[in-house]
Amino acid sequence: MFDKILIANRGEIALRVQRACRELGIKAVMVYSEADREARYVQLADEAICVGPAPAPGSYLSMPAIISAAEATRAQAIHPGYGFLSENALFAERVEAAGMTFIGPKAETIRLMGDKVSAKNTMLNAGVPCVPGSRGALAEDAQEIRRQAANIGYPVIIKAAGGGGGRGMRTVYSEETLLNAVSMTREEAGRAFGNPEVYMEKFLQNPRHVEIQVLADKYGNAVWLGERDCSMQRRHQKVMEEAPAPHIERSIIAKVGERCTNACVEMGYVGAGTFEFLYENGEFYFIEMNTRVQVEHPVTEMITGVDIVREQILVAAGEKLSFKQADVIFTGHAIECRINAEDPKKFLPSPGRITVWHTPGGPGIRVDSHLYAGYYVPPNYDSMVGKIIAHGATREQAISRMRIALSETVVEGIQTNIPLHVELLETDAFVSGGASIHYLESRLNAAKHR
Ligand code: ADP
Repeated sequence: MFDKILIANRGEIALRVQRACRELGIKAVMVYSEADREARYVQLADEAICVGPAPAPGSYLSMPAIISAAEATRAQAIHPGYGFLSENALFAERVEAAGMTFIGPKAETIRLMGDKVSAKNTMLNAGVPCVPGSRGALAEDAQEIRRQAANIGYPVIIKAAGGGGGRGMRTVYSEETLLNAVSMTREEAGRAFGNPEVYMEKFLQNPRHVEIQVLADKYGNAVWLGERDCSMQRRHQKVMEEAPAPHIERSIIAKVGERCTNACVEMGYVGAGTFEFLYENGEFYFIEMNTRVQVEHPVTEMITGVDIVREQILVAAGEKLSFKQADVIFTGHAIECRINAEDPKKFLPSPGRITVWHTPGGPGIRVDSHLYAGYYVPPNYDSMVGKIIAHGATREQAISRMRIALSETVVEGIQTNIPLHVELLETDAFVSGGASIHYLESRLNAAKHR
């Protein structure tokens, strides 16, 4: 087992990983930017190293800065969290080349899954159902592109092979705008992701976002830990997540889960990972795989009792998965509300000094956040500053506990999206369960015009 791990991240996930290290008796080295110097999780660390200025390119995204911090502190492994360098194959390679362990899959797996065209091909070969679309990247030939779109049937979506974070996608409703959309997405993709390759998929009109969590070790063992419904999204960003996904037959999920674990074994996947799907009319369609821990992993932890971050560390250290699929028991229902430092109506970021921070508690409530009264939320990073998770024996109980938890929460000094969560938890669409990925956005648009 490792004695010391460097955590190459910040905020709530840095604290989450630090907690897992402490529980395992592993020393945690935190890196921080000048903007995060005062954070309490930095002070709680066994060791902490400043890796650069507030802007992430000079600190949290700087491979030399992070690797030399790990070398200087003699860390044996690096946990990348999510975002930043977590899905950067070159970083994984450099960590390994420096003689340390990257806590995640092999660089070649990250590369394979990071390119959506090769990821989709891998899934098709492993029998994982995918959205109907072009086989591979689109060629230059205009005639051929038109033919493929007609075959798939409009509307179609043009997606960048190297895309991420909800960017590099364009929906096309008819042939007139097709070629223009393809060339614009190509150009954008080249600029934003350094890879102009695009592919085409059927645009699903009213799907839900349902994803499968997996864990795999180095010895060909893989398990799936159920699914999460992350359909409540704004601008392709998840706002609220839950597990299990309401109103989906367990046998369908189990079949997809098994396919995902087969795919893991076939590609030699190691660590935690998520297969993201769109779900429509009883069918699952793979869209992409995330080769890291996800923001919404706690809902899975609440219903399975598995500590995903702990397992990530154990399998990276070369241990065998300590349980089998048959040992995974799902209990109750869990919901997560992402707390963003933002204006709940206009969604503008709301950084600043927190004056009051009162967190909820009681049965089934978990709060993952690095905030405290007196903490300054820097303007330089993502606005997500924490998560409230509610677990209950039933979905109704989880909702009820979440409502109470939100009513107890007091945050002053910055604005948060808590009012949006409070409102959403009262809507018929959420209460009935199974809303599509467009629900929240349409609701917000309607409110704007009221
Ligand atoms: P990213 O890596 O940028 O998150 P994804 O491929 O995961 O990209 O897609 C992000 C979101 O875009 C999905 O959650 C869904 O809302 C929408 N989307 C992607 N592909 C399709 C599709 N074929 N049909 C409809 N919506 C889609």
